[in-house]
Amino acid sequence: MSCIFCKIINKEMKSKMIHEDEEIVVFHDINPQAPVHVLVVPKKHISAITEMHEGDQKLIGKMIYLAKEVAGELGIAGNGFRLVLNNGPDANQTVPHIHLHVIGGRQMGWPPG
Ligand code: 5GP
Ligand code: ZN
Repeated sequence: MSCIFCKIINKEMKSKMIHEDEEIVVFHDINPQAPVHVLVVPKKHISAITEMHEGDQKLIGKMIYLAKEVAGELGIAGNGFRLVLNNGPDANQTVPHIHLHVIGGRQMGWPPG
């Protein structure tokens, strides 16, 4: 698979990776939208949440659990943080490989833009 996140997972492209296990990587977003902005990315190429299968439920649950762990490690768990998973053009999904944004370190606005 030649998608940009598959290349990061395969180490064909550099990233600031802070976690890797057999199923998931976590790396810093190249264009951070807050003091802390990391991406939790499954190694399995799933292009969007709309392409998720029933059997992927555990994997997506693990992504959220890891987001919680990483938020603690990066010191944003206490004040709060936002998890974002953009799906499709209206949501501005730009990379067709699912990823959970973990964003924190500042006050967020609501509703999102
Ligand atoms: P989306 O808009 O699809 O939800 O989010 C894609 C995210 O990936 C964006 O926040 C963007 O800054 C980030 N991104 C795109 N290309 C790269 C890259 O090559 N390296 C890293 N670390 N992040 C990237
Ligand atoms: Zn991919």
